Amino acid sequence: MPHNIKKILIKKNVLERKIRSLADRISRDYRKKNLVLVCVLKGAVVFLSELIKNLSIQFTLDFIQVGSYGKKKIPGKITLKKDIEENVKNKHVLIIEDIIDTGRTLAYIFKLIKKKRPKSIRICSLLDKPSRHEVKVTADYLGFNVPNRFIVGYGIDYNEKFRNLPYIAAVD
Ligand code: 5GP
Repeated sequence: MPHNIKKILIKKNVLERKIRSLADRISRDYRKKNLVLVCVLKGAVVFLSELIKNLSIQFTLDFIQVGSYGKKKIPGKITLKKDIEENVKNKHVLIIEDIIDTGRTLAYIFKLIKKKRPKSIRICSLLDKPSRHEVKVTADYLGFNVPNRFIVGYGIDYNEKFRNLPYIAAVD
């Protein structure tokens, strides 16, 4: 375990079991529907790849990336770095996110995609910090609630480090 990792919060086998059950639910809910998975770069890519290995339905895949100005300077000011490329009009969109903190990122992405007139939009997030929400955002498919700690691992970074950890951990 790297020395600055303070605590493993969710082990690999627990993550994988939960992701399998989320994939089962998604496969049931979207059977015979035109599903577009929109993965939020970069933190959600490990979650996405584990999830899609367990989906038994057809889907297309797209990516979106947003950035935020220095959070202290302009809280909640989000910018679009990369938009989705697929035309999602009349299709079912499922946004795949790593972690919900204030909820501002997902609120921004939700609004942006809604303008493209999909048939439905839902949110699938691996983690949620419910005590930190500032705007109303609910994950339709959620892996785990986590405490208000700085989280890394399973795709989630600290200055681009720790994405490779196969578990979810807290750093100080
Ligand atoms: P929100 O807009 O909900 O405040 O923040 C969502 C984004 O902030 C996530 O997609 C993630 O990139 C980042 N984030 C929120 N909490 C954490 C955390 O505990 N650790 C890391 N590494 N990133 C976080």
